[in-house]
Amino acid sequence: MNKPEHDMLDQARQRMLRNDLRGRDITDPDVLRAMMEVPREAFVPEEYRSQAYADGPLPIGSGQTISQPYIVALMTQLLRLNPECEVLEIGTGSGYQTAILARLATRVYTIEKFEELSSGARKVLNRLGVANVEFRIGDGSAGWPEPRCFDRIILTAAAPALPAPLVAQLAERGVVVAPVGCGSSQTLVVAEKFQGKLIERPVCGCRFVRLIGEYGFRQ
Ligand code: SAM
Repeated sequence: MNKPEHDMLDQARQRMLRNDLRGRDITDPDVLRAMMEVPREAFVPEEYRSQAYADGPLPIGSGQTISQPYIVALMTQLLRLNPECEVLEIGTGSGYQTAILARLATRVYTIEKFEELSSGARKVLNRLGVANVEFRIGDGSAGWPEPRCFDRIILTAAAPALPAPLVAQLAERGVVVAPVGCGSSQTLVVAEKFQGKLIERPVCGCRFVRLIGEYGFRQ
């Protein structure tokens, strides 16, 4: 990348932080720092690099999108991560959200349905020196394939309801953040597990691609 492009992206990242994150309701300093430090341009196809800090999703191939930066920041803030957290992410996509989570948690386990997206994300994260991520390819709606308990779970694709296998893999006092619903009537939900039961709270309307799988949408 040449210097003018580097400087332009740097200014665009500062503008995103000021207008689209701090200017709205992103207040967690750790989340803001991670959003400042992870280069979103590394996760988008070259032809979209100049738009990397625009306030919207962008195509990443396989008919999927990298999420809007504000939504990535909001979902991360809602997770209330600490450095001891083990996080399960369903829908690796470009790996951008994965990289943000990996800065704030001890380990991230991420599942993606499309092999080419998973391997692309793995390459970018390797190049950026992110080493605390485990990748899997498959249907994340059925949970992590080995028995495991997670402190936090994030879904980056919309499910008809919170998938039962994921609820079962959430630790007591754990937090899950997910878009729930279909089409134009999706809601971003945050839920916490108390005595084996989920206490759910709607946060806002949202628009995500569908979670396709056994415990998601069939198509
Ligand atoms: N957060 C990602 C990023 O920053 O690039 C964007 C994720 S994109 C909005 C949603 C992703 O979920 C897509 O890559 C899609 O292939 C994936 N997906 C959909 N259904 C899935 C499933 N059942 N298991 C795993 N991944 C799934």
